[in-house]
Amino acid sequence: MTTDRDEGRRALVVGLGISGIGTAVALARAGWRPVLIEKASGRRSGGYFVGLFGAGKSAAERLGLLKNLHDRTAFDGVTYDLDRFGEWRGGLGFKDIPGDPWMMLRGDVEQAAFEALPADVEIRYGTVPTAIEQDSNGVTVTLKTGGTAVTERFDLVVGADGLRSTVRRLAFGPDERYLRRLNYMIAAFQLPGGLDTLPLHDGCTLLEPDRSLWVFPFVDHAPTVLFGYRTDDVDAEFSEPPAVRVRKAFGPEPTGDMLGAALEALEATDELLFDSVEQVHMNTWHKGRVVLVGDSAWCVTLYAGMGVSAGLAGADLLGSMLGRHENVDRALTEWERRLRPYLNYYQQLGVQQTAIFTPNRKQITVRRAMMRGMRMPVTSTLLRIMRTHNKSGRMKEFDIARA
Ligand SMILES: Cc1cc2nc3c(=O)[nH]c(=O)nc-3n(C[C@H](O)[C@H](O)[C@H](O)COP(=O)(O)OP(=O)(O)OC[C@H]3O[C@@H](n4cnc5c(N)ncnc54)[C@H](O)[C@@H]3O)c2cc1C
Repeated sequence: MTTDRDEGRRALVVGLGISGIGTAVALARAGWRPVLIEKASGRRSGGYFVGLFGAGKSAAERLGLLKNLHDRTAFDGVTYDLDRFGEWRGGLGFKDIPGDPWMMLRGDVEQAAFEALPADVEIRYGTVPTAIEQDSNGVTVTLKTGGTAVTERFDLVVGADGLRSTVRRLAFGPDERYLRRLNYMIAAFQLPGGLDTLPLHDGCTLLEPDRSLWVFPFVDHAPTVLFGYRTDDVDAEFSEPPAVRVRKAFGPEPTGDMLGAALEALEATDELLFDSVEQVHMNTWHKGRVVLVGDSAWCVTLYAGMGVSAGLAGADLLGSMLGRHENVDRALTEWERRLRPYLNYYQQLGVQQTAIFTPNRKQITVRRAMMRGMRMPVTSTLLRIMRTHNKSGRMKEFDIARA
């Protein structure tokens, strides 16, 4: 006779992003039987530029997906600091980023995680949870696919369904309780090729007070673009098409060539991420047998540069803890206790680093002074030493999911 334990306990993982696929890989490794559901009708591809730091690389290695990834950093490229009047200055390069990130696209990580998923893991597309009820022995979930609803029983439910998580809403309460708007908007997309006269392996930033354009190059892929701007009225930003709002944010003045080309590319793209930048703050990420992983639990925002790494680390450690502790509550409590100090730190970074991505007037002045300093040999050496000993670099590289 086979028992439930022989077949592995059954977990519902909601969301086929990096955190969800990573969690399914980790749970299968721990002897659980994950069932993955995704509201979209199929897998996504591509996406935007992401940096994978040490915390994510170590987790990816243990999950068996690092071998499916490679660093796309364009080391031979330069990142220029431009203005709309056509002036180009040498800006910060990849070697100036604290830590030792691998540059890639979000879709690279999703694909690598998908390839590491055991073939017998069940995946249901076009499926969402509509009700979650739990008792001490398990969780009863109503799942809707098209017009059909079914009710199933699981030993664990993992919400890896992103910033506006349905699992969080059903099990922990409404978004207003947990989401904190940083009052920035972003528009991110892939270019079909190079942008205007910018060489393919070079990047650029065009920073004006409270609005910015970034072009991220890759060594073996077309660049991606990131527009960002500050707003006092996030809701109004969704009242018109994204390209209209971004153009308005950059004002009526002539755009110049590079900004003009980027705005045209934005108007032409058919795959765009346009959203407000928000963090998720919760006192606890688990309740009984329901747990949140990734952006749904702690969204640190793109400004921290740690959403992917933290999602993989959270998934990896969750699998380790559930493999170690038979008691689910104990596993989840231990998992959260280990992760929380790092996530608190990444969230602080997410707020502080708005100054890097979309600086205000004063922050732009400080940045320009710093860059002038970097061109002088003595200051440059000093700044490089500071970078090597930089706390954020160490915290991003540290293997936070080591069991
Ligand atoms: C422009 C940009 C740049 C970034 N740069 C970096 C970076 O450099 N480094 C870094 O580490 N991170 C970066 N991030 C953050 C990182 O991309 C995210 O933190 C990470 O991808 C979150 O993954 P996730 O799986 O938790 O959530 P998501 O990627 O949001 O995935 C959630 C999944 O759940 C599905 N879903 C949603 N609702 C439901 C439902 N009701 N039922 C079923 N499925 C559902 C969605 O369709 C999706 O597939 C960046 C983000 C942006 C926007």
